[in-house]
Amino acid sequence: MLSISGITKTYDNGVKALNDVNITIPNGLFGLLGPNGAGKSSLMRTIATLQQADAGTITFDGIDVLSQPNELRRRLGYLPQDFGVYPRISAYDLLDHLAILKGLANKAERQEAVNGLLAHVNLFQHRKHAVSGFSGGMRQRFGIAQALLGNPDLLIVDEPTAGLDPEERNRFHNLLVSLGEDKVIILSTHIVDDVSELCADMAVLGAGEILLQGNPIEVTNNL
Ligand code: ADP
Ligand code: ADP
Repeated sequence: MLSISGITKTYDNGVKALNDVNITIPNGLFGLLGPNGAGKSSLMRTIATLQQADAGTITFDGIDVLSQPNELRRRLGYLPQDFGVYPRISAYDLLDHLAILKGLANKAERQEAVNGLLAHVNLFQHRKHAVSGFSGGMRQRFGIAQALLGNPDLLIVDEPTAGLDPEERNRFHNLLVSLGEDKVIILSTHIVDDVSELCADMAVLGAGEILLQGNPIEVTNNL
């Protein structure tokens, strides 16, 4: 469970991106819905310990996230909104390098982990292809594979389906559903169907504030 309490953030340019955000997020797929500019990425970056809040606390499984960022980072997988590096090395080699950076020293263990992840995201047959040649949907699935390295129990995916065609989006949805119920998975999106099709719980963010929270049927009836 992830608890967010009183998170507030004003950027140097005076934009108040988050205003007293309070949400409790259970295990499973949680949808954070909001239009562009609502503050979704600001909140995701704050949870991922990539930027600091002005006030508030975040706790994950007893970890005080904002004061113990390294504890959180060890358990975090993050697919940022602009996962925009598409190297010319192969999918396999890129994941293998990232696994080394994650501390997986043993080559045989890495091989098993990397092949397993590539199979899970349906890219095993493309393992020897350059990531730079992948379609948008393939890149997002590859992004999930990299975020899952080290088996995180908090996974943040920020606007993962923007720009995907319906078939790719569907595949990506199936992948998210396959990740199981034992992690906290936060899906940030401006697409109502992403949350209504996938999430048991959700919140709506607008102009930096939580407007609604509950199950998608209740919440989308009130939109
Ligand atoms: P969303 O992800 O919902 O589109 P963001 O968190 O990206 O929302 O943005 C919320 C508001 O904060 C917007 O007005 C945006 O322009 C502003 N903002 C986001 N990041 C920064 C930043 N680094 N510096 C200044 N303003 C920012
Ligand atoms: P998947 O079924 O995993 O989505 P597909 O086999 O349908 O992937 O491939 C999607 C498209 O991308 C196909 O046209 C395929 O030929 C092309 N493709 C796959 N890998 C590469 C690559 N490394 N470079 C360029 N195109 C690729």
